[in-house]
Amino acid sequence: MLFALVWWTILLLRYNDELLDISLVHSMVPNQAEILQRFEKNKYQIYGEGLVFGLSLIIGMYLIQRAYNKEVASNRKQNNFLLSITHELKSPLASIRLITDTIKKLTLNYEEKGELCDQIIKENTRLQNLVDNLLLASRLNHQYQYFFEPKDLPEIINIVIHSLKVQYPQANIEFKSDPLESEVWVDQESFKSLVHNLLENAIKYSPNNPNLNLQISKSDQANYQVKVTDFGLGIPDKEKHKIFDQFYRSGDEETRTTQGTGLGLYIVSRIVKAYDGRIIVSDNIPSGTVFKIILPFQPKNHAHITR
Ligand code: ADP
Repeated sequence: MLFALVWWTILLLRYNDELLDISLVHSMVPNQAEILQRFEKNKYQIYGEGLVFGLSLIIGMYLIQRAYNKEVASNRKQNNFLLSITHELKSPLASIRLITDTIKKLTLNYEEKGELCDQIIKENTRLQNLVDNLLLASRLNHQYQYFFEPKDLPEIINIVIHSLKVQYPQANIEFKSDPLESEVWVDQESFKSLVHNLLENAIKYSPNNPNLNLQISKSDQANYQVKVTDFGLGIPDKEKHKIFDQFYRSGDEETRTTQGTGLGLYIVSRIVKAYDGRIIVSDNIPSGTVFKIILPFQPKNHAHITR
């Protein structure tokens, strides 16, 4: 279309020049300067219209391409999500089935039975966490109501750490709580999910170094900070702004080995927004990632919110 437009413009300019020559030869008007001026004006009009149509075409093409790319990316994300959720549901169910079959068929001693039961509890916790995350993500998008109340943060965090230890016994989580000097108001369910998702990611994406730190400290007069540091794979700079998108996971589902659904950080970002807080992601040195979550001691609208 662009080529056709350029070609039409050239043709129109040629006709304009030919008409000018004819007019100059056959014109009855004594003032030839007037004729020249009129044809010069026509020329600019042709240039102007060509330019406007050309630009509209380019902008239109750009917008269509952008919408198309968005649609493709969104379809890819949803497809990846379906693949990951199927895998996440199937693998613990298959493990539980296999373990129960083993317990039934073999004559096992007390210790062996205990080990297999621990495996079942682990797979069950994994399923439970997955379902909790799915439900919470859906509720956060629709009708989740925050109920803020004064809470003891270390107590909540220790519960989360304890449940993660069941699923990831190899993880070494060092938790440090500085004095905050203020009462902290949180919505327990969402705060637990926030800490759980950050810690679980730190464990999952640190396959070769299971050590990680969690620290709570005062940030300023009105805010405190939850900082999770790992020594794992790290997040490339070009991905840092994408990781909070719903269903976003780096890499491709077919080749990925880490479990997940791409909902964890989306949930974290929705919760932090509701608390009126902010998230800072940076690289850890020598390797890994630091997530800093800055939250107000008393989220502004807590007085109006009830469950
Ligand atoms: P999931 O872990 O289920 O894939 P998340 O929303 O929790 O989904 O995280 C999105 C992506 O961000 C992950 O796929 C991973 O690539 C990256 N990511 C999150 N946390 C970390 C971390 N601590 N270290 C390295 N990469 C991370």
